[in-house]
Amino acid sequence: MTMVCSDIEALIEPFRAQARALLEELHRKRIPVKPFETHRALQRSAFLWTFGREGRRRHLLKRTNAKPGESAHNWGLALDCVLDVKVVPVRLRAWRGRRVPDAWDNETPAAKEVWEAYGGVVQARGLVWGGTFNIGGRPDLPHCEMPNWRKHRPENWRLEVQRVLKAAGAA
Ligand SMILES: [Zn+2]
Repeated sequence: MTMVCSDIEALIEPFRAQARALLEELHRKRIPVKPFETHRALQRSAFLWTFGREGRRRHLLKRTNAKPGESAHNWGLALDCVLDVKVVPVRLRAWRGRRVPDAWDNETPAAKEVWEAYGGVVQARGLVWGGTFNIGGRPDLPHCEMPNWRKHRPENWRLEVQRVLKAAGAA
């Protein structure tokens, strides 16, 4: 269960409207990013948690600080945008035996400029930018989330996490 959902419709109000307005402004300002991930299944969070921590992914770079239920993505209250590699001259990365443009490039000067512009717009709209986070020593440049998103989680969210992961056999 590691599918990525990039559907804006999968976001929950009031964040859905905020995300739409953000994307409109990014488009208007010609900041070349596009939505990559919106709502994230609890099972996918459980999978991402293992990077840099457990099993055969223990030695890889950490991908998240959030256990299942502790990411705003799980509740449709976060959005990740990546670089539009058709526009931004990014570095290449290895992927399944090929070299592909790296939509997460954080080194190339042109890419860095886009991330800064993106983070500026996110923060000016009163949203929280992952560029200020620290995940294993690295920022989470694509990430933006609603401030105080935890207040918008269902009251019984812990039970919901247990129920879903138990059903998936991942708990
Ligand atoms: Zn994110």
